[in-house]
Amino acid sequence: MSKLLAVGSIAFDEIETPFGKTGKILGGAATFIGLAASQFKIDIGVVSVVGEDMPQEYLDILKDRGIDISGVEIIKGGKTFYWKGKYHNDLNSRDTLITELNTLGDFDPVVPDNYKDADIVMLGNLHPSIQLSVIAQMEKKPKLIVLDTMNFWMDNTWDELMEVIGKIDVITINDEEARQLTEEYSLVAAAEKIQEMGPRYVVIKKGEHGALLFHEDKVFFAPALPLREVFDPTGAGDTFAGGFAGFITEARNISFESMKNGIIQGSNLASFCVERFGIERMLSLEKSEIDERLHQFKELTQFNIELS
Ligand code: AMP
Repeated sequence: MSKLLAVGSIAFDEIETPFGKTGKILGGAATFIGLAASQFKIDIGVVSVVGEDMPQEYLDILKDRGIDISGVEIIKGGKTFYWKGKYHNDLNSRDTLITELNTLGDFDPVVPDNYKDADIVMLGNLHPSIQLSVIAQMEKKPKLIVLDTMNFWMDNTWDELMEVIGKIDVITINDEEARQLTEEYSLVAAAEKIQEMGPRYVVIKKGEHGALLFHEDKVFFAPALPLREVFDPTGAGDTFAGGFAGFITEARNISFESMKNGIIQGSNLASFCVERFGIERMLSLEKSEIDERLHQFKELTQFNIELS
């Protein structure tokens, strides 16, 4: 089986939406990436760090889905990364109320030996120097390195971010972040500039308005499925990235055409993620539901126009 290595946070999240609030629940980018990618027939290993306060049954959720967590370090006496967020009424924007880095603050990632030859590497949103360290530990050049990042790193660690962006193949960022990164309003112009920084493929996420894939002079657009029920968008971006990376890993095909399907698979999985708090919906997700929604995606985007 093809191998995917994912690095990212494993967290306690506390979430408030217009529909209610949670206590501390399992979250983190690596958790969402792992759960999404585990829907594909691949080997997946996660590199992360948690404190001793992380219940074993939370880690078992990942293990039970076939995710190799031997790269998840448990720091004795340490506390797990904690994030609290509150969504506005439109659910499109949120305020971060609390970020306690805890063990993530001095995370020194160690890639397990059996993942140093992973085919695909998914670098979840983290300090760019952690992402660089993971790339440096790979013994075989991965076929594809996918990077997710956010405005926080643009504001605070610009030089390291530029260094890691120069070493990767695919970047996934949201529209506002693409504009901040390039100082371009047009997303087409922004994607061109980002490609000049390094990545050959640029994925710009537009939340409930879908995602764009740019490569050279080609562009592809995947809508987000119009959903009746959007409950909690936390982790949608990571689920999208995990679905994308998981699909490409299974397909063993790195081409624009293959990535189009990857974008659809990522969007499809993200559409489930937002239906419940945190990871809840991803845990009950059945293969038949995934397939059914892929049909809906096809219906949504197909039309028969007569062209001369
Ligand atoms: P998303 O909604 O896809 O942007 O991702 C939300 C997840 O990102 C939550 O589960 C958080 O635990 C995690 N997260 C938030 N801020 C950070 C950060 N600074 N570093 C790493 N992970 C974070």
